[in-house]
Amino acid sequence: MKKNVFLLLLLAVSLTLAGKEPKYIFLFIGDGMATPQRMIADEFSRKTGKGQLVINTLPFHATTRTSSANNLVTDSAAAATAIACGTKTNNGMLGVDPAQKRLTSVAEEARDKGRKVGIVTSVTLNHATPAGFYGHRKSRSQAYDLGLDLVASHFDFFAGDGISKHDRGPKSIYDLAKEAGYTITSGREEMKALKPGKKAIAIAASRSSAMPYDIDRDPACPSLAEMTEKAIEMLSNSPKGFFLMVEGGSIDWAGHSNEAAANLFEVLALDQAVKAAMKFYEKHPDETLIVVTGDHETGGMTMGFAGTGYAIYMERLALQKHSSVKFHRLLAKALKAKPDMTFEEVKPLLAENYGFIFDSKEKHPMNITAKELQLLQDAFAAKKLPQTANIIMSGKAGIGWTSGSHTALPVLTTAIGAGAENFTGFIDNTDIAKKLKDLL
Ligand SMILES: [Zn+2]
Repeated sequence: MKKNVFLLLLLAVSLTLAGKEPKYIFLFIGDGMATPQRMIADEFSRKTGKGQLVINTLPFHATTRTSSANNLVTDSAAAATAIACGTKTNNGMLGVDPAQKRLTSVAEEARDKGRKVGIVTSVTLNHATPAGFYGHRKSRSQAYDLGLDLVASHFDFFAGDGISKHDRGPKSIYDLAKEAGYTITSGREEMKALKPGKKAIAIAASRSSAMPYDIDRDPACPSLAEMTEKAIEMLSNSPKGFFLMVEGGSIDWAGHSNEAAANLFEVLALDQAVKAAMKFYEKHPDETLIVVTGDHETGGMTMGFAGTGYAIYMERLALQKHSSVKFHRLLAKALKAKPDMTFEEVKPLLAENYGFIFDSKEKHPMNITAKELQLLQDAFAAKKLPQTANIIMSGKAGIGWTSGSHTALPVLTTAIGAGAENFTGFIDNTDIAKKLKDLL
């Protein structure tokens, strides 16, 4: 009851704010996050006692078409270009149209109008989605060149998993960034110590390793929510306001590997980041806009699986300890110590990480059936054990997958605050940039 009253109040406030111009704009993008990903994380959150996701409570919603200029199924580069610049381009292209004409992103327009700009992501900063807001290249694989574009953007704050291939040119991108006036930090503590006033690039991982999935979070790395909080702190002293894009980038990776637990924990991490923005919104409700969208769906993920019939057991995913990436590392370590390890000896590792039960006489939903046992044995022999364990785990939770790639499913866009009423109905991904540019 209390929650419903709160939601009604939120809606009332939002309706009063309709038509106002947002001084502070937040755009959250879940890479590979469509309705299934949002609802699976939501269901898990409810089942584990943490309630509904904030991203699903925002009062305005728009179903959003995701196709690119040359394909019904988009990649993240064309999707980022559409969402950031408002023009459809071919898969693989960033910040240019199919004829390679340079486009302008909403982030660049915000910068040119005197707003501060921030880019936050859980993947590398020159990966397709973040690069769509500052990069202009015919191919997303031009990582070094996109690093050059990043420095040339003069945006105020970047936080993410560093800049990939930063040393593949005459000069390191980090050195160029320092020369351009950026402070560069690595790890959680250094990022926390940053003070507003100087441009900065915060590299999430403190070592050279990549930022792990949120399910495996290393306390030396900031969470996506902590990076968002820092971005707000670094940008909010701007007299003309700010534009901040935050990407949950690894939802997509967990979709490609059909891994339900890692996928939903990434959506939860994005939801926590939106919560940080909501705290800011509550202080500046008539000047803040928060938009949450996805760039495309990944994996053909669905709620419901033939093996569990009409039942869905999302809470079983809480039994999974680490992502399959970390499990793969633990398995490799065990195999290094004992190269002739048999499947029998691997069973305890599987039981420990996934909650699978082997050789039990008692009925239990996590019991491994004879068919599943065969699949796991074959996968172990083929050195594909983590992938198969992901599929079996998804099946036990009632989650199905149809693809290892992206799909053409529409995504859900939700919004709250000044200008949020623009995000309703059935829209195109390019409409997000168009509407945001209008609101600047
Ligand atoms: Zn992808």
